[in-house]
Amino acid sequence: MICVECGSEVGSLRDGLCEECFVEKHVDVDIEDPIEIEVCSKCGSIRKGKNWLKRPDIQSVMLDRIENALSFSSAVDTFSFEVEFEEGDPRNIHADIKVDMKIGDLSTEKYLSTNIVLKKDQCLDCSRREGNYYEAVLQVRPSKKEMTPEQKEKVIRTVHERIEKDRKEERDVFITAEKEIHGGLDFYLSDKRVSKNLSYDIAEEFGGMVTTSSELAGREDGQNVYRMTYSVRLPPYEEGDFIALKGDIYRVKKTRSGSDPVTVRDLKNNKITTLDKEEMKEADIYGGDELIMKAVVVSEEEKEIQVLNPETYETETLIKPEGSPTGKEEVEVIKVKKRLILIPEQR
Ligand SMILES: [Zn+2]
Ligand SMILES: [Zn+2]
Repeated sequence: MICVECGSEVGSLRDGLCEECFVEKHVDVDIEDPIEIEVCSKCGSIRKGKNWLKRPDIQSVMLDRIENALSFSSAVDTFSFEVEFEEGDPRNIHADIKVDMKIGDLSTEKYLSTNIVLKKDQCLDCSRREGNYYEAVLQVRPSKKEMTPEQKEKVIRTVHERIEKDRKEERDVFITAEKEIHGGLDFYLSDKRVSKNLSYDIAEEFGGMVTTSSELAGREDGQNVYRMTYSVRLPPYEEGDFIALKGDIYRVKKTRSGSDPVTVRDLKNNKITTLDKEEMKEADIYGGDELIMKAVVVSEEEKEIQVLNPETYETETLIKPEGSPTGKEEVEVIKVKKRLILIPEQR
């Protein structure tokens, strides 16, 4: 058979052409030059379509881009390629590429080269961060006056630990601003969901209540964008606090979020019981550990104990409820309304 192009005599023809002429006429590959890769100058993320890849493997991103930048003539069935990158300018990388193409049982190769230009840009998260972006405000508020320094420290730690944990899991969450305000704390956070979760965690920790509100912040891509506020109202008492309610003294054991009741120990009978949030509103709150005093034991009977009042050094007889420690030289007491009370649960 004779090739219509070059006239050579060959065993078989493809579209009237010998192999060489067929490849020459129908098999081709080309590559874009340059190939641009947008890199965030702040965090090194790389743009991939609409998204940004965190901590990308630059080598595999380049190979990916090269593969996408190749264009073949329609006759090519399959291909593979090898790349050699030229060391040198890290922002403008020369690449030599050997492409192997298969057309049925025919195969041929071609050498191409291109330049990969790394373009500085700013990823969405970094630009949001710069633009003081926030999706939600997490508010923590005391019931009275001010949060204690310990409460503030604990809340701040809870928020920061959560953000750090999320960042380790590659979620880009950040605190845009944090403020002390109205005796409490405000955190401006880049993520609604994290803010919501945090508000419930803090409410759980301190026995608070969460209220949610939203306001229209604008429109983005034709959608209304709402900014959320998650407000945690802390109760006026904390775990470990001594409280008085209807003449009885209790110690708060466990606070719970929302309207769940509070677990307390009744100091008069050393029994664990619960008080609901409505009842708790009536309670007088005295304080916690700072009220506890040591009193020397003078003598002890089954239901009573005589101690030296640590302030007056006079002997006083206190009720000793069931389960109180016995045989101690010193016991813990508190003074409530000028009255000493034995703490039946000793540390
Ligand atoms: Zn030919
Ligand atoms: Zn970035």
